[in-house]
Amino acid sequence: MLNDRTLRDLRAIVGDDYVRSGPAQLIAYSYDATFQQAPPDAVALPRTTEQVAAVLRLANNASIPVIPRGAGTSLAGGTIPLTGGIVLSLTRMNTIKEIDLGNTCAVVEPGVVTAAFQAAVEKAGLFYPPDPASLNQSTLGGNVACNAGGPRGLKYGSTRDYVLGLTVALADGRVLRLGGKTIKNVSGYQLIQLFAASEGTLGVITGITLRLVPLPRHRSTAVAIFPKLDDAGDAVTAVLGSGVLPVTLELMDQLAINAVEDYLHMGLPRDAEALLLIEQDGNSQVAVQQDIETVAAACKETGASNVRVATSPEERELLWRARRAVSAAIGRRAPNKIGEDVVVPRSQVPEMIRRVRRIGVEHGFETPIFGHAGDGNLHPNFLFDRRKPGEMERLEKAAAAVFRAALELGGTLSGEHGIGTLKREFMEDALGPDTLGVMRAIKQALDPKGILNPGKKFPTGTTGEHSGFLTALPMLDSLTGEE
Ligand SMILES: Cc1cc2nc3c(=O)[nH]c(=O)nc-3n(C[C@H](O)[C@H](O)[C@H](O)COP(=O)(O)OP(=O)(O)OC[C@H]3O[C@@H](n4cnc5c(N)ncnc54)[C@H](O)[C@@H]3O)c2cc1C
Repeated sequence: MLNDRTLRDLRAIVGDDYVRSGPAQLIAYSYDATFQQAPPDAVALPRTTEQVAAVLRLANNASIPVIPRGAGTSLAGGTIPLTGGIVLSLTRMNTIKEIDLGNTCAVVEPGVVTAAFQAAVEKAGLFYPPDPASLNQSTLGGNVACNAGGPRGLKYGSTRDYVLGLTVALADGRVLRLGGKTIKNVSGYQLIQLFAASEGTLGVITGITLRLVPLPRHRSTAVAIFPKLDDAGDAVTAVLGSGVLPVTLELMDQLAINAVEDYLHMGLPRDAEALLLIEQDGNSQVAVQQDIETVAAACKETGASNVRVATSPEERELLWRARRAVSAAIGRRAPNKIGEDVVVPRSQVPEMIRRVRRIGVEHGFETPIFGHAGDGNLHPNFLFDRRKPGEMERLEKAAAAVFRAALELGGTLSGEHGIGTLKREFMEDALGPDTLGVMRAIKQALDPKGILNPGKKFPTGTTGEHSGFLTALPMLDSLTGEE
């Protein structure tokens, strides 16, 4: 609970209308796209960097937790106010301040919605490639804070590859202005890279300068159908060895295909063990076409039974609709789902898929898999019903086995969703004590009182042998099972 004086001070900073503290309002900011829930004590919606800095100063002086929040689409529990405090919602800071054609960059506030930004940029004849599937909701600030990726990451990289400049308010209210419009900059440590993927634990991003690229004039999209899942894995290696770097190489396994078919009824082949959605772009239609033909040949050589190239923008859009619907389609199959986000070296994609399937069978879960196969970034999903006795404990074992498998294969815990609360207990396994120690030292230097997004990213060490790493989390009650 915040005392009356703190609430008064908060209102004085952001304005009476932009502090929320009623019970219903607090519930609205108590959960994200995971299954967790914990209410904050208050929500502040600042409009300027100065207001953000003033809220932080107030909170730091009183040691009150501050949880930065964009659209709340985190799949890692990154926005859950585990110990109460102030949710700092950046959604009112949603202005595209400038699209600078000469310097091919844009200056934005953190609450701009990703898709709205992309549309504005494309209207100006430029292109902002990062495309998380949540782009119609997610904010650019949230994207930077998680280093969001998406299908186009294979050719174009992820959010951090586009950040030229950041304005960041630190826990004590100091404001850093990092980088700017220059393409090159090696003056000092690369703090921009540090804040990207920091998940709200090191500072609050209040301004972003993003690099833009020329808008490709042509695109071609194809879908390759594989009777055997292993062959789809081999196709990824074959395509990337063919001299072509496609924009996307997205994989859906049989369960994911069937979930989408149940949802959209678009004629996907239910008996195929996998499909790859492949896209190429460029300025020469002929070159794009040649690339897609090369990729199609590589897929056929590795066992694709059919490769269909979209012949119209409508058909292309339909294929993408299928891909973007995967998460929602899978979600209809069970009261709860948890989407993992592991990365393995590309060559290990088939082995990782085999291991996930085995883990699913061993622990009794359906485990549809989809993801950015070209990046080695897979999203195995577990479908479950958390009301069933013992279900969460089994889920914990299965999820831990997936993390272990990714690490054993030379991979990592998260490619784009972040660590949040869900994977924090595995950070030492993934990074080792020395690296984790350096990260703790950075956190201590920037946020000595630990007010920024407490309980995220770092292991608590309280769930011995990792048991309880999910069940110990505060659970979402009111909305469970209503899909
Ligand atoms: C259906 C669905 C599909 C998704 N697909 C993808 C995908 O393809 N690729 C992908 O990468 N992710 C995906 N995500 C996850 C999520 O959308 C991304 O992590 C996204 O970047 C979060 O943006 P947000 O604005 O919702 O941030 P939030 O969820 O509000 O916050 C996420 C984290 O960032 C911090 N944060 C937010 N704003 C700021 C700020 N201004 N300053 C400092 N810290 C901040 C928060 O504290 C939190 O730790 C998906 C989510 C859903 C629900």
